[in-house]
Amino acid sequence: MIMAKLAIKGGQPIRTRLFPAYNTIGAEEKTAVMEVLESGNLSQFLGAWHKDFYGGPTVQKFESRWKEKFGTQYAVSVNSNTSGLFTAIGACGIQPGDEVIVSPYTMSASALAPVIYGAVPVFADVDYDNFGLNPESVERCITPRTRAILVVHIFGNPAKMDEIMAIARKHNLYVIEDCAQAPLAYYKNRLVGTIGHMGIFSLNYHKHIHTGEGGMIITNDDNLAERCLLIRNHGENIVEPKGVQNPFNTHGFNYRMTEMEAAVGCAQLDKLDGLLKERLQNAAYFAEALGKINGLKPPVVEEGNQHVYYLQAFKYNSEVFGVHRNTFINAIKAEIPSAILREDTPLIGAGYVKPIYLQPLYQKRATHCSFNCSKYEGAVSYEKGICPVTEQLHFEELFTHEYMRPGMTKQDMDDVIAAFNKVAENIHELK
Ligand SMILES: *Cc1c(COP(=O)(O)O)cnc(C)c1O
Repeated sequence: MIMAKLAIKGGQPIRTRLFPAYNTIGAEEKTAVMEVLESGNLSQFLGAWHKDFYGGPTVQKFESRWKEKFGTQYAVSVNSNTSGLFTAIGACGIQPGDEVIVSPYTMSASALAPVIYGAVPVFADVDYDNFGLNPESVERCITPRTRAILVVHIFGNPAKMDEIMAIARKHNLYVIEDCAQAPLAYYKNRLVGTIGHMGIFSLNYHKHIHTGEGGMIITNDDNLAERCLLIRNHGENIVEPKGVQNPFNTHGFNYRMTEMEAAVGCAQLDKLDGLLKERLQNAAYFAEALGKINGLKPPVVEEGNQHVYYLQAFKYNSEVFGVHRNTFINAIKAEIPSAILREDTPLIGAGYVKPIYLQPLYQKRATHCSFNCSKYEGAVSYEKGICPVTEQLHFEELFTHEYMRPGMTKQDMDDVIAAFNKVAENIHELK
């Protein structure tokens, strides 16, 4: 029992020295980038029907390495997961009047992707235990206008893919997996991203591995792969000379990755297994230690699944502690610092991101098409209360932390655990 005044009440914090930086960039990435720089060939893409429509040697090498790793027929690199999601929605032929079922508890881009193509995101509620789409709620959101389900493996924990795929088959829908937080996560011993029609990964600075900014789309579908390639790179110039039969939605963007990013990506992909192993060990250490605290519940991982812990989400029981979750989390933040390179942003948060439908874009219906389109015959709701489980988790029960990042030592993790124990044991000071 640590009898001590809590830092938030003016006591001594457990620790003020910053935790280590999360920095996975080393000699391998530097060498790889220097080779590209010395070649002078920083991007070989051409927006024309030519062999360079597919990009330069390093981009193509990165894509073949990625598809080998994930065992898919195609890997199409893009300049972010966001542009990858837009590409995937376009590739499915989504258009104004259509609906796409999305999760409200994810990074905003997952729900925005349908809006970009003039379609309507319909928010289904999340599962109380794994925080991904709840299949029963998805089923209730199906209408004659539904064209696709955009699943997010949130925090790195696989969503209930069997049930979601069964709904999709029954209603003839596309399934797009947003795997930004879930590289090498497994659902019933299958890699996520390979179960639906397309899987999209993020290579942004905050993710398991990164290229600064970047993304990757994987698929086994010839037609979808071709359409993704067209959308990535000025498809309107390509359809005629390439002899593409159906040009619908193939107007292209410039979502191309540079040779330098691809070089970093190859080196990072080599590190993914090792980084993940460390992350999993750290997460298990926290689950064990923090799970012993009455009122805290670590994430549920089902048999045959692998959670890859982009974040570790716990459920907090306010009845046990007698104070609101936010009060508890603020007390933790006062006991321990953030990390080098992240000085001003804590590695722990009450909830995750606000349920997306509560953002002004949806509340004010602030777009010219999508839900305001004359072709749209549905009546989507974005009212507070449409996803009660999400709201309960976000506003009351859930907290997420990143203290399991690779680079944390045992001592670093023990300081985090000491902070939790101190706050839990002295909770009366917060009442
Ligand atoms: C990070 C993230 C994105 C966006 O990825 P970018 O590569 O930054 O565009 C989308 N969805 C989820 C779930 C994410 O975590």
